[in-house]
Amino acid sequence: MASTALEQHPQTRPIAVHEHGWATESQHATSEGVVRYVRCAGCGSRRVDVEPAGAAPPMAASAVVGP
Ligand SMILES: [Zn+2]
Repeated sequence: MASTALEQHPQTRPIAVHEHGWATESQHATSEGVVRYVRCAGCGSRRVDVEPAGAAPPMAASAVVGP
């Protein structure tokens, strides 16, 4: 009765998950901090990052947009 076979997870994404390597395409300063438009050199996905004024590391301000 016990099933030993692992169920296959459905493929939910057409592209393989990898660690994006973001490169800045353009940036500009705003009152919120520096807004960067970044693009992954590996898969071409894009994202918008905001680097808050101060020493905090950049954080994603948008979802990843696929190529
Ligand atoms: Zn990528």
